[in-house]
Amino acid sequence: MPVPPIVPLHHQPALPLDHLILRDSPGPEAIEMDVAIVGGGPAGLACAIELSRLLKGAQESGQAVGDLNIAVLEKAESLGEHSLSGAVVNPRAFRELFPDTPVTDFPFRQAVPGEAVYLLTERRAQRIPTPPTMHNKGYYTASLCEIVRWLGERAEETGVNLFAGFPVDALLVEGDAVRGVRTTPSGLARDGSPGSGYTEPTDVTARVTVLAEGTRGLLSQAYREWQKIGSPNPQLFALGVKEVWETKRPLDRVVHTLG
Ligand SMILES: Cc1cc2nc3c(=O)[nH]c(=O)nc-3n(C[C@H](O)[C@H](O)[C@H](O)COP(=O)(O)OP(=O)(O)OC[C@H]3O[C@@H](n4cnc5c(N)ncnc54)[C@H](O)[C@@H]3O)c2cc1C
Repeated sequence: MPVPPIVPLHHQPALPLDHLILRDSPGPEAIEMDVAIVGGGPAGLACAIELSRLLKGAQESGQAVGDLNIAVLEKAESLGEHSLSGAVVNPRAFRELFPDTPVTDFPFRQAVPGEAVYLLTERRAQRIPTPPTMHNKGYYTASLCEIVRWLGERAEETGVNLFAGFPVDALLVEGDAVRGVRTTPSGLARDGSPGSGYTEPTDVTARVTVLAEGTRGLLSQAYREWQKIGSPNPQLFALGVKEVWETKRPLDRVVHTLG
């Protein structure tokens, strides 16, 4: 029997908007930035690198643009720790982001040498022609956490401020505008009261706040709900399992299976 799609709208408890969208003024110790990017995954880091690149280009062409203070706030203790996927990567975005870098310097393992698709039944694996959408010619195998660490290094080289170990808890808003973010306090006791190693939350103010939290980002969901931004195409989710295999020698193909 076909399983009906899981639509979070019907299965997720109501978002605690009063916790996620705060009208508080930023604290006196707030860190002032021009751009605050929430999430140090590929999207957040690419955003920071591209912004720096555009700014440098404008400065070099003599435009009267000042400097930009860009911050990336990542909840993992170090970049890449929350990046668990990645296997085959299309290098196009890397070429656009780093036009002067040879592909051999990108954080890839190897070019995809070949591929095979198998239909699995209870007893056998039947090889089938590779469907057009599964062709990986010209792509590379890679580890997402290695990619993220590499992007983090490139971002830091361009002067981006990386704050790892800073989970963002809430958006700080004034009227309809987002003025920055507040991080999660640390060292709370089980009942939520300040424990022995308690550290106050940090406020980061910014002219522009970018949400790059990845799939099911709470702040992005809260922002859309607060601003009543609907979608005729709600996100759908499935459960996946990842296995990491150690092979005796490098594989000579990417293998897809279905069935
Ligand atoms: C099982 C699996 C396999 C995949 N395989 C491939 C593949 O082979 N090739 C491919 O190209 N893509 C693959 N993808 C897709 C790829 O992983 C995503 O497209 C990519 O990671 C999206 O990048 P992102 O930066 O938008 O989000 P993410 O990679 O999810 O990064 C978001 C970051 O934001 C941080 N964050 C979230 N909330 C907060 C917060 N409140 N405060 C601070 N930080 C926060 C997270 O810790 C995380 O580091 C796969 C995905 C999955 C799940």
